[in-house]
Amino acid sequence: MRVYNSLTRKKETLTPLEPDHFKIYVCGPTVYDYFHIGNARPFVVYDTLRRYLLWLGNKVTYVQNFTDIDDKVITRAHTEGITIKELADRMIEEYFHDADALNIMRATIHPRATESLNDIIGLIEILVEKGFAYQAVDGLYFSIDAFPSYGKLSGHNLEDLIAGASERVVESLGKRNPLDFALWKFKKEGEPFWASPWGDGRPGWHIECSAMSLANLGQTIDIHCGGVDLTFPHHENEIAQSEAATGKPFVRYWMHNGFVNINYEKMSKSKDNFFTVRDLASLYPYHILRFFILQAHYRMPINFSDDLLDAAVTSWQRITSCVEHLAFVAGAGEQLSANPQADSDLEKEITTCRYNWQEAMDDDLNTADAIASIFDLVRAANTAAAAEGISDDILLKARETIIELCEILGLEPAKIEEQAIPNEIFTLVNARSQAKEARDFTTADALRDEIEAKGYRVEDTPQGARILPIE
Ligand SMILES: [Zn+2]
Repeated sequence: MRVYNSLTRKKETLTPLEPDHFKIYVCGPTVYDYFHIGNARPFVVYDTLRRYLLWLGNKVTYVQNFTDIDDKVITRAHTEGITIKELADRMIEEYFHDADALNIMRATIHPRATESLNDIIGLIEILVEKGFAYQAVDGLYFSIDAFPSYGKLSGHNLEDLIAGASERVVESLGKRNPLDFALWKFKKEGEPFWASPWGDGRPGWHIECSAMSLANLGQTIDIHCGGVDLTFPHHENEIAQSEAATGKPFVRYWMHNGFVNINYEKMSKSKDNFFTVRDLASLYPYHILRFFILQAHYRMPINFSDDLLDAAVTSWQRITSCVEHLAFVAGAGEQLSANPQADSDLEKEITTCRYNWQEAMDDDLNTADAIASIFDLVRAANTAAAAEGISDDILLKARETIIELCEILGLEPAKIEEQAIPNEIFTLVNARSQAKEARDFTTADALRDEIEAKGYRVEDTPQGARILPIE
């Protein structure tokens, strides 16, 4: 498999340092709110990379952190009148709700910054000892002048960036270079803090990821992933801190996914187009969101808009109805005559599909082309299913191939019934079950009416509520 390495700016053959064992770090969410659609993309894409590497027979150790100390977390917790731990615990639970629904596998380890303080402080101590860190007015800073290769990942012109920084702020803080960044921020009134050799305070964001990667995966990891917007300064700073401390290469392959736009515009809080996954999941089922993300090549920009998502719904239905149809035709009874030509034609299509699918995946995780190859087989299988005398075995083999290749992408076309039911209905059905349990039959009946008005009926079975569409 070859992947585009943002560090070397070219496609390279992907080989792990330790045979058949990939160590991957993905920058995780800041847990102050539901995660937004810009985060969903990297989580889905790199989960797919992980699934593919596993399918190829590798072991994968996958670390994705939770940033639970951050200005946003502190501000939100303060607004809600709860502790940052209470907020983070709740949002981590909500993260798993959405991530599980998107069929994102849980990481091998999900470290939290607040639980990694010893690693973080230990790393800063090494940087201080080695002369890469210094104390300024409001905290400890990393000195980029002490690390000559600073800028190698992003390729930014440092002079331009320095010229753009505010001299006044830099001088008042006692920073040596405007681009020096905080490793440890001294305690401010009303903020949570931890003890350190330099005084009470909290870590900077960049050092958290370096420390959690080094502590959980070792000095040199295989792949570090994230959105392209994290390249500078976050990933650049992670490299500087980690390599300054260990003297070893930090990451062998850097993978960055492209931007996410909403309705053809850049997502931003001010434009009122800042969607969380939860928002979007009330309009489209989670599996459609995953399918939609994978229909684009991960390095290209992606645009979430109603027309494109509606088209994804239709495309996905072509796969699920083919899977359903093939099972139906194959189960429809005895064949009167044999048709070896039709059998061998479809057999060839299956082989071609597998070959094209894997070639696409091997070429920088091109899920867009991989999905296109599945559609080629869907088309061929639909045609073949209509042929007189085609054998059931070959139809079922085509069906299994479609299902298998989708499943490696984390998509489940055979799970039709459940998937067809919108999340909103599940929420109502759960609320009804709870009302029934509490013997609040008035509410339970009202909820049942509401569910029926939306086109579904609930059947109570010993295994729990069963949801059926009203024909
Ligand atoms: Zn990070």
